[in-house]
Amino acid sequence: MATDRPRTDAATADILLWQTGYRIVLALLVGSAAVGLRLAGVLSPPEVVLETVGPELADWLVAIVTAVYALLAIGIRVYVRATRRAGEPLSTLMVAADIALVFWLVFLLAEPPHYHRGLLVALFSLQLTHVYFGRAPALLMLVATAAAYLLLMDIGVRHRADIEWSDALFTLALFGVGAWLVTRVQTHLHERLANLVAMFERAEEGDFSDSYDVAADRRPDAITAVGRAYNRMRGQLATIVLTDPLSGCFNRRGFEQQYRRELSRAARAHTDVALLAIDLDHFKQVNDTQGHLVGDQVIAEAGELLRASARAQDVVARTGGEEFTILAPDTSLDGAQHLALRIVEAFRRRTFAEPDGRVNVTVSIGVVADNIRDDGIAEALRARADEALYAAKRSGRNRAVLWSRGLNALRLKQSGDSAVVQ
Ligand code: GH3
Ligand code: MG
Ligand code: MG
Repeated sequence: MATDRPRTDAATADILLWQTGYRIVLALLVGSAAVGLRLAGVLSPPEVVLETVGPELADWLVAIVTAVYALLAIGIRVYVRATRRAGEPLSTLMVAADIALVFWLVFLLAEPPHYHRGLLVALFSLQLTHVYFGRAPALLMLVATAAAYLLLMDIGVRHRADIEWSDALFTLALFGVGAWLVTRVQTHLHERLANLVAMFERAEEGDFSDSYDVAADRRPDAITAVGRAYNRMRGQLATIVLTDPLSGCFNRRGFEQQYRRELSRAARAHTDVALLAIDLDHFKQVNDTQGHLVGDQVIAEAGELLRASARAQDVVARTGGEEFTILAPDTSLDGAQHLALRIVEAFRRRTFAEPDGRVNVTVSIGVVADNIRDDGIAEALRARADEALYAAKRSGRNRAVLWSRGLNALRLKQSGDSAVVQ
């Protein structure tokens, strides 16, 4: 999963905010119920408590412990609300306080033979901790629970309560097995959820390349259903987000994504990449004389023509109003020149927007190709393609110009110059 820290901290903050609310209410309810029952004479402190803390304190310790816990939860809540941040230390502190409260209450309210009740509550808390805060705080909780239980048992044994170490260890072992099972199932769920979240995050950035591996779920469940729904949505979303509806080509976002990906691949493999910057000539006149609707029709057909002229692995994108870019992987300058010439020729021969318009449109193309050693060249390549396009416009339009060093000087010469391809 993409775990950028600010985002994780913000998620932990959200969880702590709603959870502390529950914790405060629960602590106050338990505290006041215990005090009420004590005052009504229904509840009396176990013998061990009377012996260890004394009768005066024993009466009020439940109230004190729950009040301290509630105050800590309130403090954490106020802090999180103010900062909107909560890292692992804070969630760990909260979890440690949970265990301390549980075992304090067990100690204060239960007779020693019932100390295992603390383990039952801890098992439930362990599951929640693992779900919401992850593995590290859950592990700490596990250790703290075992330690607290053993401590209580030790106090009980030392006060000659009716308990046996062998029973205690057996109960603890059962708790360990239960905890292991719970966390194992939880870890698996967690990993699959994290996988889904990562996929959604990539989709947020316009990357729809991954699909959820439904076949890997041997026992399909609700997460599989979400994965399936994502897969169904993926194709439609990718089309909406990455393509231009008018021309059917990639839009700028789609192009950027393909461009980054292709340049990194080419940089690793040291292969050639060609870029063609294509602009429809005098397009404003088309709009002015034929109207916008015919103009739109021409743009749509131009996109179709460009895609038909390019190879299957080429990326054809509408990167501006009447501007297109073709990214041609594994293509040398020679190959790019052929492609550009083919396109210029195809536009020359074609009549657009028939039967209503009968529009003739030519294109100017700036061509650049290079062997990619470093994907940092992305911007420079684009600038060169634009420079060559500009030269094509300046030297008469309806042509392709290959970029070369010193092109600025060349474009001032006649169009018959070797840098200019007609
Ligand atoms: P040049 O040969 O120098 O490129 O001339 P041009 O007229 O093509 O260039 P200019 O940048 O002056 O004008 C581009 C025109 O393209 C103006 C704008 O109205 C038109 N255009 C851009 N996007 C669209 C579109 O989506 N639909 C229509 N119908 N026209 C568009
Ligand atoms: Mg333009
Ligand atoms: Mg134009």
